[in-house]
Amino acid sequence: MKNALHKKILVLLAVISSVTTVRSEEVFHVSKVGNDKTELIAVFKAIQQIEKKKTYGDPRSFEVFQKVDSESYLVYKTRTKYSTTASSMASIGGGGRTNGTSREVTDHSKIYFLVLSEPKDYADGDRLKDIFAVDNSKTKSYTNTLGATQTVTVLNEVTPVNLSQDEFVEKLKKGESWLLKRFKKKSCTFCFGDGKLSASNNYAKCPDCKGKGSTLLDCVIKW
Ligand SMILES: [Zn+2]
Repeated sequence: MKNALHKKILVLLAVISSVTTVRSEEVFHVSKVGNDKTELIAVFKAIQQIEKKKTYGDPRSFEVFQKVDSESYLVYKTRTKYSTTASSMASIGGGGRTNGTSREVTDHSKIYFLVLSEPKDYADGDRLKDIFAVDNSKTKSYTNTLGATQTVTVLNEVTPVNLSQDEFVEKLKKGESWLLKRFKKKSCTFCFGDGKLSASNNYAKCPDCKGKGSTLLDCVIKW
């Protein structure tokens, strides 16, 4: 009976501490970084990725429907579809893995007018991968094979430019800050990094760090 109560208290403690650790975060002041720049470099790289995604979105893949000229193509968007079981085609081909296969699926419901940043010689049906393309809310009309006029959205390929160190510092000084989720590894304060509880708790797995001995803290990056 006493043991059951003890367990209940432990569980309750675990719940309380997990609620508090979810909220824990650390402030990283760039202006206070000393000679060791290791952490700052990691912070800067993570922020470059965030800014890149903010400005350009994720890279996209397309399938050429029709070439207009070497820089302009009518395209479909494609996406990667993951499945946990191998397709029959993959089995026949012998190259398929039994799980975690992926394939490109073309969305034929919508056509886009893709303007490349440099001329390329793509043929109908070719697949273009990892293209950063922005939608500037422009449309283009073309005559389809049936002689009808169709209006489609224009996408412009862009070459992403990373945030420079100067721009990073400038933004920080203007008061901008970033939240890096689960960025910093910190020794677990609940089990003191052991990953397990004390002898009186039968060395049970630490409920706070799930036995890892450390937790990942969110980091707020400020000047
Ligand atoms: Zn722990």
